[in-house]
Amino acid sequence: MSRTVLRVFRTYGLRGVAALLLYGVVLRWVRWLNRILPSGRRACPACGWEGFSFEPLFHETFFRRGARCPRCGSLERQRGLFLFLQGHLPARLAGERPFLQLGPDRAISDLLRGRSARAWGLDRRPFGDVRGDAARLPFRDGAFGTAIALHVLDYLDDPQAGLAELSRVVAPGGTLLLQVPRIPGGAPRVRCVIARQPIWRFGDGFEDDLRALGFEVSAENPGGAATPGDRARYGLESKPLLVCRRAP
Ligand SMILES: [Zn+2]
Repeated sequence: MSRTVLRVFRTYGLRGVAALLLYGVVLRWVRWLNRILPSGRRACPACGWEGFSFEPLFHETFFRRGARCPRCGSLERQRGLFLFLQGHLPARLAGERPFLQLGPDRAISDLLRGRSARAWGLDRRPFGDVRGDAARLPFRDGAFGTAIALHVLDYLDDPQAGLAELSRVVAPGGTLLLQVPRIPGGAPRVRCVIARQPIWRFGDGFEDDLRALGFEVSAENPGGAATPGDRARYGLESKPLLVCRRAP
């Protein structure tokens, strides 16, 4: 813990340390509530966990409440994607073109493999099946039927290069599932700094970039047919999932 505090202090200063300490208090409080209160107020569709509250997520100079599943570690966006895929994919995916997940999530990987899909996870860190850079994907053209990149482009030095790579590896008739932080307005993208980290946000022009790469784009609700009550129970967010389909 002390090494983590030192690292956060060096990088983010006193504000980061204050956020980390408060996060630790809230995390212990949430875990205690989950032990003593009746379960069922919140539920994870990915792993079946039920409890009083999802756990907070520490993010350098702030923390987000009700974010992470205590059992499988899924976040809001991953639970939404899980429901979307569960509702849209056939029961068996054997023989279908493979799936690529950038920044792989265990719940999504388990869902795909449970349906006999061939699925690859790529990460810069040693967390996936393949270690690599999203801006230089180590796969041949058209290798995948579906590529998934939730909040990946926002962290790249050159998101346009990452998008071009994703487009390159999606086969004709394939689908690219994207989620990025949005800004109002027509600019394709704007770089800003959050928690001292450079991050891209994407305007309305982002859809034009996707269409220029040959995709038909629709913004869909990641929770699918979940009712408002279920959305709160599953801890979903309201950000749309960009479903980009390429003509066969
Ligand atoms: Zn879970």
